[in-house]
Amino acid sequence: MNFDLIIFDCDGVLVDSEVISCRAHAEILSRHGYPITSEQVFHRFLGRSTRQANMEVEAELGRALPDDFHVQLQDELFRSFEADLEAVPHIHAALDEISQAICVASSGSHQRMHVTLGRSRLYDRFAPNIFSAAQVTNGKPAPDLFLFAAEQMHVTPERCVVIEDSVPGIAGGRAAGMTVFGFHGGSHCRPGYGDRLRDAGAVAVFDDMRQLPGLIRKIGVEAAPNQTGY
Ligand SMILES: [Mg+2]
Repeated sequence: MNFDLIIFDCDGVLVDSEVISCRAHAEILSRHGYPITSEQVFHRFLGRSTRQANMEVEAELGRALPDDFHVQLQDELFRSFEADLEAVPHIHAALDEISQAICVASSGSHQRMHVTLGRSRLYDRFAPNIFSAAQVTNGKPAPDLFLFAAEQMHVTPERCVVIEDSVPGIAGGRAAGMTVFGFHGGSHCRPGYGDRLRDAGAVAVFDDMRQLPGLIRKIGVEAAPNQTGY
């Protein structure tokens, strides 16, 4: 066994939240004079922090978004999550089979994860090892959050696997010196999305969580030094 820690992104990996979240984000931005579709939100902001997204929008608008923009967005999001959110299929079964330590590293806030992971009965499986971009200076694609999570879990980066569904997330995991798997089984993923994740640096891509425990074992053996016979 060569990996000691499996670091899960939250949105799009543990909970199937991205379609809901892009829709809510597009609706609130449009309401504030920045017309945008959920498809456009998906391409521009998926896997990045709201803080970074807002800075870009404000730069383009040439004015600040309202002070309570974050609250409005959050209200809309949480209302939609409570109504529609589901866990990613088979994630509970996959976690049952994984023997390594696990944690979450998400661009989202702790409050958001309390709602999304709570609703999908995942919160108690991960708590207290749930880390947010709010705890570091630079969000994904910077490596900061993954390095912070590994440090908190007392595991060196080369013994970590990151499970990510976004290009910035994969870039962040790679920049942290970790092995990254790309998951493209979320309902927001289109055909060909797995190739984008592989191009971004994922060593393996998969679209069914039942494949994950086997992948961790397989890649772990392949990556092991002195076990290949060369
Ligand atoms: Mg994600």
